[in-house]
Amino acid sequence: MISGQVQLASYLFASILFILSLGGLSSQASAKRGVMYGIVGMIIAIVSTVLGEGVQGQTYILIAIAIASVIGIFLARKVEMTSMPQLVAILHSFVGLAAVLVGFGSYIDPKTAQLTGVEHNIHLVEIFIGVFIGAITFTGSVVAWGKLDGKIRSKPLIYPGRHLVNILLVIGCVVLGYIFTKAPGVSGLPPLYIMTAIACFIGVMMVMAIGGADMPVVVSMLNSYSGWAAAAAGFMLGNDLLIVTGALVGSSGAILSIIMCKAMNRSFLSVIFGGFGAAPTGPAKEVEGEVTAMNHEEVAELLKAAKSVVIVPGYGMAVAKAQFPVYAMVEHLKKEGKEVRFGIHPVAGRLPGHMNVLLAEANVPYDIVMEMDEINDDLAETDLVLVIGANDIVNPGALDDENSPIYGMPVLEVWNAKDVIVMKRSMATGYAGVQNPLFFKENTNMLYGDAKDSVTKINGFLVA
Ligand code: NDP
Repeated sequence: MISGQVQLASYLFASILFILSLGGLSSQASAKRGVMYGIVGMIIAIVSTVLGEGVQGQTYILIAIAIASVIGIFLARKVEMTSMPQLVAILHSFVGLAAVLVGFGSYIDPKTAQLTGVEHNIHLVEIFIGVFIGAITFTGSVVAWGKLDGKIRSKPLIYPGRHLVNILLVIGCVVLGYIFTKAPGVSGLPPLYIMTAIACFIGVMMVMAIGGADMPVVVSMLNSYSGWAAAAAGFMLGNDLLIVTGALVGSSGAILSIIMCKAMNRSFLSVIFGGFGAAPTGPAKEVEGEVTAMNHEEVAELLKAAKSVVIVPGYGMAVAKAQFPVYAMVEHLKKEGKEVRFGIHPVAGRLPGHMNVLLAEANVPYDIVMEMDEINDDLAETDLVLVIGANDIVNPGALDDENSPIYGMPVLEVWNAKDVIVMKRSMATGYAGVQNPLFFKENTNMLYGDAKDSVTKINGFLVA
């Protein structure tokens, strides 16, 4: 057992480590250190909480932690990089569910009944709000998991008058909250149950209304909600560290969502309210031109002739695990004296930073990995762009077709380069489910096949 003061000091230390962890995660070079700070902070947080005054049943807690750790390690080792967003989404749902359970537990806890006056009212409001946010986070995250995992269709589910329905449901929850805080003893359970059901429904409908292209923002928004749900649980339990940690996650998730909205030129409100005013008003533009294809040898010849090459990776590169042969190709081209760089779109792949992680895995040096804004202007002077398993992030319709679902999203303007090669397996659409006019442009050629297989074959011709 440790004293309250020791616990407070360790909470403070853990909070500092969490802040350092977030700071570390802001750049690839310091990300590993950031993760280590987070791990140490979390170990200190758990140990000082479990050994705190008034905590009983440590044996059960330790058994639960051991079982959960085994499951966690097993899942983390097994999960593919491409399934990471789903894992993140389902983990957010656990935080939401935990806040709901803490809320109910806290309400029926005899200690709650001992509180009086303002203190009692404040505690009931904390419970009500905590359960509300927790329930939305829980079901919203489960739906996000389903959408990212392809178990639920990514098309937005929108019905007329849904905003009015949502407003009425929120008003209903406010009324239930009033009844709940006035109910004596634990007789407020029925309004709490009803509100939980309504909040679960709101969570489902909120994420169902969001289209595939906006999913990255939703993932980080749910990350933010899970932080607020944790902070609410911290208030209910009177745990300062949980409040601080929840607020850190809540605010950093909100900031990330806003940054991503800016990167996609979306209004934050229109994303979270499910395409508010952003719905296309007519059919997408007719695509003109013909699709032409090249074989591996022809692409290798183009590469040999090019002086400057930009590689634009996307989700398909992650699926194919092509980053290793891609880097072997880059090393070869650089030895031949060519300028080779990567152009990274902020929402390439299925989670923020997805491509950076893959390239780091293959030991690609950071100085040739450019952000979209850094490289877009240079594309017009580039001889050859290799688009590897990317689709939506290089769609010109985002700039010139007002009826495209991704209209307004900044994209890598690869068509401005002299030649473009698109490596993918077929003419299938990308995540947003929209046709890509890039494939029909005169300076674009398709190279069909699995990205890893294609790059390996091209490498063979390059060294021949
Ligand atoms: P897209 O999903 O638009 O396109 C990926 C393409 O890769 C597909 O068209 C597919 O075509 C191809 N592909 C799949 N497997 C392979 C393979 N083995 N070898 C070669 N090609 C393959 O990906 P982008 O990265 O261009 O865009 C990301 C999209 O995901 C955006 O719409 C974004 O909004 C969304 N999103 C992003 C998140 C993030 O945080 N980054 C989170 C959630 C969604 P084919 O089947 O013909 O091979």
